[in-house]
Amino acid sequence: MKVVVIGGGASGLVSSIEAKKNGCDVTVLEKQENLAKKILVTGNGRCNYWNEDFTNKHFYSTDGSFIEKVNTKENREEVLNFFKDIGIVPTIKNGYYYPMSMQAYSIRNALLNEAKCLGVEIRNNTCVKSVKKENNEFYIECLDNEIIKADKVILATGSNAYYKDKNLGYDICRKMGHNIIDVLPSLVQLVGQDNYFKDWMGVRNTSKVSLYVDNQLIKEELGEVMFTDYGLSGICIFNLSGIASRALHNNKEVKVIIDFLPSIEDVKEFLEERVKTLKDRSLEQFLEGILNYKLVKIVLNKSNLNKDKSWESLTEIEKDRLIENLTHFDVLIVGTKDFDNAQVCTGGVDTKEIDSLTMESKIVKGFYVVGELLDVDGECGGYNLGFAWISGLVAGRSVKNG
Ligand SMILES: Cc1cc2nc3c(=O)[nH]c(=O)nc-3n(C[C@H](O)[C@H](O)[C@H](O)COP(=O)(O)OP(=O)(O)OC[C@H]3O[C@@H](n4cnc5c(N)ncnc54)[C@H](O)[C@@H]3O)c2cc1C
Repeated sequence: MKVVVIGGGASGLVSSIEAKKNGCDVTVLEKQENLAKKILVTGNGRCNYWNEDFTNKHFYSTDGSFIEKVNTKENREEVLNFFKDIGIVPTIKNGYYYPMSMQAYSIRNALLNEAKCLGVEIRNNTCVKSVKKENNEFYIECLDNEIIKADKVILATGSNAYYKDKNLGYDICRKMGHNIIDVLPSLVQLVGQDNYFKDWMGVRNTSKVSLYVDNQLIKEELGEVMFTDYGLSGICIFNLSGIASRALHNNKEVKVIIDFLPSIEDVKEFLEERVKTLKDRSLEQFLEGILNYKLVKIVLNKSNLNKDKSWESLTEIEKDRLIENLTHFDVLIVGTKDFDNAQVCTGGVDTKEIDSLTMESKIVKGFYVVGELLDVDGECGGYNLGFAWISGLVAGRSVKNG
């Protein structure tokens, strides 16, 4: 059984190892000089490769039942055993798995070493431009027009995220008859339009952020928000960005409402108490102890309040307006940063056309699709690599059958 894996990234390497272990003759075709380059930049170079809470709520797919069927207890256990077997010892921080070395190199090199030890043939600088199936055989055409034959193909070319060049995986699937759900940036920065952004640039604040689409609350996150000259960034913003991307694509109104003081339960009561020890302070001085001075200025401006006024001199309406902007500061989102800033993509090959038990195409027998190329995306926290490993393992162990 000659299996060709197209793409030597996270899912491609795992599926090639698994297919080889199952007795297939496996070749990996990778367009770049080095394999699995993206793994090296994951988790800020430390590779957050898994999560203790690997539940379906951390994933999005147009067909939600797909991830439920793939993300089984057995598959999760298989991933953890797989990494143990290739020599990765985890260090777990707040549920996030990293290699004990805290180096993404360890994961990349362990995968490469395993593939090489097993005898997986690796061909780098080999970019595939098309795949055809004729008389039960696959013909894989490379950019230099070389044709490589295979009995089965596992397509693992990843998504449009991060790389600047076009991902041909989507075209290959389209030509095979697959539907591609619109591919958009996810785990990406959100772009707004307000003129105060240059004033809050560089601020980081632990905030609660709530995503509203057409005035409906869709998702909330708590964490460190990075305030930038174009809008908002940070892990909690990334976790809202897939939904924002899709909503903007569908011409919906997207807003992020920020609570700058999420640790204070009743802000008005807190400030009334605070003023007892801070009499005669200007509003600016009064707020600076609890909030970054740049944010204080912006909140006061937005509340239409003179910074030199005191809390005691405010009317109840003015106090409520100030509190509203401290806890429900709204930012209109007009876009996201581009694919090359995104960690992953939302959208991809329609999972309704993929068998969740094998990752085999329901349209073309012997053709498997894995990893981020599929219409599955996860939150930050090891979920995207996690899905790459799971789908790669499932395809690798199934490819010998049929
Ligand atoms: C900055 C950054 C940080 C991230 N951090 C994390 C993290 O900490 N945890 C986490 O879970 N996820 C993280 N991710 C996401 C994670 O890296 C991806 O979800 C994962 O790598 C997807 O695996 P894949 O195998 O589908 O694709 P990839 O790993 O992208 O592999 C695809 C491979 O296919 C090759 N290829 C593409 N087209 C062709 C072609 N036509 N012919 C031949 N080869 C081709 C590519 O060169 C590449 O090597 C991060 C992503 C980025 C960009």
